[in-house]
Amino acid sequence: DVAVPGKVSTRFDLEKVTELRFEVEAGEAAEQVELELLTGMAEVFGSELNRNKKYTFGPGSKIAVFTWQGCSVNLYGKPEVAYVSKDTPMLLYLNTHAALEQMRKQAERDNERGPRVMVVGPSDVGKSTLCRLLLSYAVRVGRRPTLVELDVGQSGVSVPGTVSALCIERPADVEEGFSVQAPLVYHFGSTTPGTNIKLYNKLTSCLADVFSRRCEVNRKASVGGCIINTCGWVKGSGYQALVHCASAFEVDVVLVLDHERLYNELKRDLPHFVRVVLLPKSGGVVERSKECRRDTRDEKIREYFYGFRGVTFYPFSYEVRFSDVRIYKIGAPSIPDSCLPLGMSQDDTQLKLVPVTPGRDLTYHVLSVSSAEDGDEGARKGIVESPVCGFIVVTNVDTQTQVMKVLSPAPRPLPRHTLLIMDIRFMDMK
Ligand code: ADP
Repeated sequence: DVAVPGKVSTRFDLEKVTELRFEVEAGEAAEQVELELLTGMAEVFGSELNRNKKYTFGPGSKIAVFTWQGCSVNLYGKPEVAYVSKDTPMLLYLNTHAALEQMRKQAERDNERGPRVMVVGPSDVGKSTLCRLLLSYAVRVGRRPTLVELDVGQSGVSVPGTVSALCIERPADVEEGFSVQAPLVYHFGSTTPGTNIKLYNKLTSCLADVFSRRCEVNRKASVGGCIINTCGWVKGSGYQALVHCASAFEVDVVLVLDHERLYNELKRDLPHFVRVVLLPKSGGVVERSKECRRDTRDEKIREYFYGFRGVTFYPFSYEVRFSDVRIYKIGAPSIPDSCLPLGMSQDDTQLKLVPVTPGRDLTYHVLSVSSAEDGDEGARKGIVESPVCGFIVVTNVDTQTQVMKVLSPAPRPLPRHTLLIMDIRFMDMK
């Protein structure tokens, strides 16, 4: 085999049903690590590796190379850690996939709908990874499942602060994950559901409606079912949001990762026909620090504007007059019930569109461009429930000339003029 020039290579011979776990050092200066399958067969989170192809993993990557039959692989470069583990829950995960596939077969036979699965658990237990695995296994046997991403902190589909749905048509790319084409994305605006739980639940219902309507007209989507990834917030309102999601999507299966109490609570609170299954987490899942999460979020926004790996995007920077756009924040600060106008409830305030007067403090904020038609006051009603068509970042505000400068993936003009402000900020260091 041809080594990677200037890099040490380390060979690992894996027995069957074991995995090689490795982490690439984080940080700008860190060196990438290449992986090559030499003999046998292996997969990374459900996607098969090609032999004698070098896969590159960048700073901060945490990878498991799993083999059912045994294999040997080479790593080029210096991973922060690399070890082989015999102790993996992969067999249980595969059995879960087999059970879901059984349900799809039955749905096909009986002209019913396929399994709707919700994956829950605290943060850093491998929820996203399990979703990816189950989706990749499903497409590999010819299904067309849908990924529903409800993790507003670490979205695998769009920028942070959004919820979304994506039809999965091919297994995740080993290096890049799922190809994200034409996702359905809604604006939430912050990285934790707690900032506006009413809005969060509302958007969950919106996604469920759209998915159900698609299932009515698309048999493959219906049989394929969906895999819903959720937030790691599993207490209080976070728990209520999970129960709400289960009911909105009419889920059939809930996979609880590594949290016995949550498992018992859901078994108690969900209808009896919902199958709640407790699964162990993989010992390989790595806990991420606050900083690490923030960096990942930042990176996700950077990718949106500048592309990643082989693909480079060239975003545009242009000026937008305040008078040409309408900027809103969703949700007014809550006020005591006794002070609410007659006939108004707390729900109304959380879903209310509050006009934002552009000022200096708008700088660096990420704004969603709503797909809602630019219209009069009447049209405002549908904005919360309209998907977004893209994102911009405010890079400068000039209150004197009433103009703001924005970073945008497309040249001017903006496709729509209704903008929704996020709590999330992005400083463009390029
Ligand atoms: P969650 O969605 O529950 O927050 P993730 O699925 O994002 O957790 O997993 C956290 C991190 O652990 C990710 O970087 C993922 O690549 C890594 N990871 C998951 N499973 C393994 C494993 N078996 N070996 C090594 N790393 C893993």
